[in-house]
Amino acid sequence: MAQAEIGLIGLGVMGSNLALNIAEKGNRIAVFNRTVEATRKFYADAGELQSQIVPCETIEEFVAAIRPPRPIIIMIKAGEAVDQQMELLKPYLETNDIMIDAGNANFRDTMRRFDNLKDSGLTFIGMGVSGGEEGARHGPSIMVGGRQESWKRVEKVLTSIAAKFDGVPCVDWLGENGAGHFVKTIHNGIEYADMQMIAEIYGILRDGLKMGATEIGEVFGEWNRGRLNSYLIEITEKVLKAADPITGRPIVDLILDKAGQKGTGKWSVIEAQNMGVPATGIEAAVAARSISSMKDEREAAEKVLGLPNVGEFRVADKAAFLKDLESALLASKIGAYAQGFAVMSAASREFNWNLPMPTIAKIWRAGCIIRSQFLDEITTAFTKDPDVANLIVTPAFARMVKESDGALRRVVSAAALGGLPVPALASALGYFDSYRRGRGTANLIQAQRDFFGAHGFDRIDGEDAHHGPWGSGLSA
Ligand code: NDP
Repeated sequence: MAQAEIGLIGLGVMGSNLALNIAEKGNRIAVFNRTVEATRKFYADAGELQSQIVPCETIEEFVAAIRPPRPIIIMIKAGEAVDQQMELLKPYLETNDIMIDAGNANFRDTMRRFDNLKDSGLTFIGMGVSGGEEGARHGPSIMVGGRQESWKRVEKVLTSIAAKFDGVPCVDWLGENGAGHFVKTIHNGIEYADMQMIAEIYGILRDGLKMGATEIGEVFGEWNRGRLNSYLIEITEKVLKAADPITGRPIVDLILDKAGQKGTGKWSVIEAQNMGVPATGIEAAVAARSISSMKDEREAAEKVLGLPNVGEFRVADKAAFLKDLESALLASKIGAYAQGFAVMSAASREFNWNLPMPTIAKIWRAGCIIRSQFLDEITTAFTKDPDVANLIVTPAFARMVKESDGALRRVVSAAALGGLPVPALASALGYFDSYRRGRGTANLIQAQRDFFGAHGFDRIDGEDAHHGPWGSGLSA
């Protein structure tokens, strides 16, 4: 029997769908799962794809079934489980075999695993996969990090299973060691910001304009046919229009307002902070999820403080305000993406990855959760100017920011005056206003720092005096 082209360990939600996708695209695949029953069930349910699948119940059998050098996808629970699985696998592998962690790993773990294998003759790929269950089965976006020779060994299989945008596969090699997992982390960070901004707009429609879920769904549906066209807006319409089978009410009205999080948003913010790059949209989104999870505290606070005493939320012209909301969402989304790409540029310099920005935008255009028309425009902007400091100063995005500026201001003001929380939308406005202002207010902060800590400052006239005339105010 012909050897398998690739192996996969971990037949959970993502692994089993990825394995079926690989088999369906004509690649022979060996599979293994810690719990044997899952392997048996997976194979039994594989239907006509069985002919492309080699189900294995022991690691020896699994490794022997794959053509060397063996690429082995590990798609299991992230964290320690991956280290354990790698240790179990290692004794059976040979020089040049490739372990591929396809879970949501912290890129720092990926760098460590990469380094640990350095002298073993084995190689490692950290691979971000986005698109959830559906994407894994029919075409995910795949972000690969590791040695370029390792990528060459898996390029054909991964290209065959990736999502396609206008025929272009949404997969590529992005750089050495942790590059793929870092890019996946920032993808998720942007996803957090995007979702939070959508939720804030939903809040204005629900609590400000007092619209029902189905009616709000119509609004998102209309937006999805315009500039905001994207997977997240598309599913937002579907979610808002879905009815609870028990009560018949919109299901969204029955869902507890506590958002979960697994870590990638938080990691994005931590890494952005480590490198001194503002990622205010992602920060606001992560903080909003944390506040959402404090349900009891929020309910207790509402009893003590009450909702803001602001009277009825009024807009003079509802149709015009809806247009403003659409533009405000677009503007704040631009801010979040610009920040995400700026974080990746900084990381690229910090870790010597040479991350290809146009390629990243390209492979996010389909398959992944943040896929959208808008990413095609980002691809074009970065292709024209790959080294630009910030997406918002590229001609196309500068124009969009200027065009939607008034709308974002009106929406954030209306929300503030109406007592509705819009931390991510407000953060976008604050970001734009700070970033576009050549002369800010940090001169005062520098003076204060010098006053109490003698930290010194630079002068605008280039004169050499580095301390202010604070007299006895100076202290160590
Ligand atoms: P599931 O919970 O569906 O499956 C978990 C898998 O991990 C099972 O095959 C399980 O095996 C295996 N496993 C758990 N612990 C160990 C261990 N110590 N040793 C060996 N195998 C172990 O997870 P998902 O498929 O959802 O997620 C897998 C990875 O993909 C995670 O890193 C996740 O973050 C990432 N991911 C998930 C996405 C999603 O939408 N779900 C999207 C993108 C990435 P067993 O059957 O024996 O328990």
